[in-house]
Amino acid sequence: MHHAEHVCAARSQKLTPIRRQVLEALLASHRPLGAYEIIDELAKTTSRPAPITVYRALDFLMENGLVHRIESRNAFLACAHDHGTASMVAFLICDQCGSVGEVPATKVAQSLNDAARTTGFVPKLSVVEITGTCAHCQA
Ligand SMILES: [Zn+2]
Ligand SMILES: [Zn+2]
Repeated sequence: MHHAEHVCAARSQKLTPIRRQVLEALLASHRPLGAYEIIDELAKTTSRPAPITVYRALDFLMENGLVHRIESRNAFLACAHDHGTASMVAFLICDQCGSVGEVPATKVAQSLNDAARTTGFVPKLSVVEITGTCAHCQA
């Protein structure tokens, strides 16, 4: 939470109660949550928020690099790494437990983008998703 407060202060953005609650729900989870799972989490402590409110909060958190969207799962993941919103990351998605790790992938993403450009394609790749088995599940 300190990280989020710091980021918002640095960008003179406001961490409103709903934005804070959404981020806290994601930080408390060990795996990415879908929007409706987030709503269910919030409903446990406060009144049930409207989906649009949660989606707006998620948009805000993603714009500020505090939350990532895992496209293949249609789910959201809190990011505690202090990387810029423009930097590339790879998500390591465990097929067994559903946990998602994050590693920097700027070089990989750059070479993929470069390969795409040689064909005249204009890529807008920002994340790489890798599925497999996490260290914990191999034990
Ligand atoms: Zn991240
Ligand atoms: Zn696992």
